[in-house]
Amino acid sequence: MRWGLIGASTIAEQHMMAAIRATGGEVAAVVSTTAARARDYAARHGIPAAGDRLSLVMEDATIGAVYISSTNEKHLPQALAAIAAGKHVLCEKPLAMAVAEAAKMVSAADGAGVILATNHHLRCSGSHRAVRDLIASGRIGRVLSLRLFHAVHLPPHLQGWRINDASAGGGVIPDITVHDADVARFLLGEDPVSVVAQMGSTGMGQGVEDSTMSVWTMPSGAMVQAHESFTHPFAGSGLEVHGDKGSIFARGVMTQLPVGEVELVTAAGREAVPVARHNLYVQGVSDFLAAIDGHGKPAATGWDGVASLAVALAVREAARTGIRQLVDYGRAA
Ligand code: NDP
Repeated sequence: MRWGLIGASTIAEQHMMAAIRATGGEVAAVVSTTAARARDYAARHGIPAAGDRLSLVMEDATIGAVYISSTNEKHLPQALAAIAAGKHVLCEKPLAMAVAEAAKMVSAADGAGVILATNHHLRCSGSHRAVRDLIASGRIGRVLSLRLFHAVHLPPHLQGWRINDASAGGGVIPDITVHDADVARFLLGEDPVSVVAQMGSTGMGQGVEDSTMSVWTMPSGAMVQAHESFTHPFAGSGLEVHGDKGSIFARGVMTQLPVGEVELVTAAGREAVPVARHNLYVQGVSDFLAAIDGHGKPAATGWDGVASLAVALAVREAARTGIRQLVDYGRAA
């Protein structure tokens, strides 16, 4: 597959170009909003074509897929352009700034017959898949609650638009709560119905929230507690799932790397759970390519991206108003 990168981003640089190349793909072109930046990025990463116009990618018939990792407000127009050009789209989360925009993007892809996937990497990890399998096989019985610990410290090189630009999609809720929403949906196989929440700026956010805590109610009656932050250097990450027959403790697993430990505790005692250690992003790209070839679905579909955004935006609205919010999934319900 020949790919076009839309966005000369850190995530493409640190993870996605390697994942594309590891799956036999070729990074054929990169588009930035600044031509000089695109050329510099291309030179540093061995990309043959670079420019500031989307047409560079859209008019190249040899490019079959695009990876969109620009700032969040640009995802919608860039994805619509790619879909109109017949390209398959792997788009970063959040898919868009609003649920209706994300749904519009996914409907356009469905209508055009191209694959649109959301780059929710956590559901590609061996640890999350192991936790989901334990739940699905009944090892912890009926799920009572899920607790998500995703308070991290945003490194300086990522602090720009994420901490000070709401118009670019900044704030911890579109950045991390959206991932946790996908994790909850992936692990429990159901969609949050309503949320209560609080958010705040605890030392990093300038005009956007840098921390939030929320509680979500699931259709089964299970309760989900989520904590996301940019300001916690030593908190560590993880998740716990508690059922009436057992509990799962997964430590260090809300991360981009194949690390962390999973432990199952039941009446029989404690046991370490084996976890596959494959690269999360390679798995995501592989699943995307398989879907293009007609084998299954991407790890996270476009509609999964609509749903995770819907939950995240409900959290923000609940925190803003102080009022419990029903999650509005648009067409994803
Ligand atoms: P970056 O800030 O690195 O990149 C986003 C855009 O900002 C780039 O496309 C680029 O615009 C511009 N930019 C980046 N660096 C510079 C610079 N030094 N000078 C000027 N402009 C710059 O963001 P991330 O890579 O962290 O995030 C991009 C997207 O990926 C977001 O949607 C985010 O939510 C998502 N993401 C997903 C992750 C995942 O694991 N799924 C992890 C991290 C991010 P241009 O292209 O116009 O030059």
